[in-house]
Amino acid sequence: MNDLLREIPKIDIFIKQDDFRGFNKKLLTKAARKEISILRQGIIDSKISNFDINKLVINTKIRYKNILSSSLKPMINATGVILHTNMGRSLISKQILERASSIICNYSNLEYDSDKGKRGERYTHAKKGLKELLNVEDVLVVNNNASAVFLILNSFAKNQKVIVSRGELVEIGGSFRIPEVMKESGALLKEVGTTNKTKLSDYENAIDDNTKMLMKVHKSNFSIEGFSEEVSFEAIKKIALKNNLMDYYDLGSGYVVDLPYNLGDKEHSLLNILKHKPSLISFSGDKLFGSVQAGIIAGKKEFIDKLKKNQLLRMLRVDKITLSILEETIKAYLLQDYEQIPTLKLLFQSIDSLEKRALKIQSSLGKGVCDIVKSTTFMGGGTLPNKKFPTIALHIIGDAVKLEKIFRLNDLIGRIEKDKFLIDFRSILPSLDTNIEETIKKVLD
Ligand SMILES: *Cc1c(COP(=O)(O)O)cnc(C)c1O
Repeated sequence: MNDLLREIPKIDIFIKQDDFRGFNKKLLTKAARKEISILRQGIIDSKISNFDINKLVINTKIRYKNILSSSLKPMINATGVILHTNMGRSLISKQILERASSIICNYSNLEYDSDKGKRGERYTHAKKGLKELLNVEDVLVVNNNASAVFLILNSFAKNQKVIVSRGELVEIGGSFRIPEVMKESGALLKEVGTTNKTKLSDYENAIDDNTKMLMKVHKSNFSIEGFSEEVSFEAIKKIALKNNLMDYYDLGSGYVVDLPYNLGDKEHSLLNILKHKPSLISFSGDKLFGSVQAGIIAGKKEFIDKLKKNQLLRMLRVDKITLSILEETIKAYLLQDYEQIPTLKLLFQSIDSLEKRALKIQSSLGKGVCDIVKSTTFMGGGTLPNKKFPTIALHIIGDAVKLEKIFRLNDLIGRIEKDKFLIDFRSILPSLDTNIEETIKKVLD
């Protein structure tokens, strides 16, 4: 045993081997020390009976690389669900990122007013473009839509009643529950109607001296069908006006471009809702809007001004990375350059183009590996519940459960439909097609 221990090299000699050329010395020493101590213990415990220097080198390299590997890694979203919250929701195009990099990698006027030569306001930045795009009095950008909801309720309705339909007390993925957020914000929730039906008179009858706001929440991730009734925002807005109350619509996901496949609805279109001049609305920057994570609040200037005075805003503020990317997305919208907005680009891909891509990969894979399937998919991300639209997928022939797992372990997430493992092109950018082909070949090898 002692002989074996004597064979273990001294650490400073061990790390000088050619195998470790280019490695960082401090990190390498740390990795090598750990591997040597594991080896030493193995010998003492009589679990290791011969010393192999090559194995020690390999294990040290693995440990070194493991320390440096990122926790975040790219994945191929082949589920067909474009807004996949678990896989990062909206993608940012390289062009937009590049344009934003001039702000991100440099000092900027983030909070500096260069006309006056003194401190400026960060909230002025995405404002001009958003006002132009949305045709509203004023806007405010915060960390995400959840914080927008919280900030609005906390600023206007602390210890005062906010009336919401029972059918809209939603839970969004990741345990964001409207009733709980309201409670935390200090607002008093007044539920009206029933799960499936809420009428205009339910709102009217619930108004009392301590009522501050009528709130509508978009039913982002479910729909009630059959015997049901809800009140439009337009109608809610009218009662609010008549009773001198605020109105607020948490849209969750707003869109500005007409959506294909009849996916749009009037209650959900930003421009349509904003036509009614709401006190305030809010929506996510990274759902159908297709930009960075942000909560975008739009509405009347008097209310936005009041939100800016809430100390909470300091905790919910966005940084230059968010603001610069958001400004570039807004510019792409103003120029109708939707190629720059991957969420829209994916949604607008025609069935023909998806089919062509599938055929190309199929023919390069050869016979008997896969066939092409016409199917349907969802938008996802809590945006357009129960609205299906067409898609094209490669069905990889074989045991679906096993295939799902092995592709997943190779960072390609597909889906299983009717016992078939599918690679759905709807959520895959065309630039990834060669990666997909290579992954399929590797996995089936
Ligand atoms: C998604 C959603 C939220 C939360 O938005 P985040 O940007 O994820 O914080 C809030 N309300 C509704 C109705 C939503 O759909």
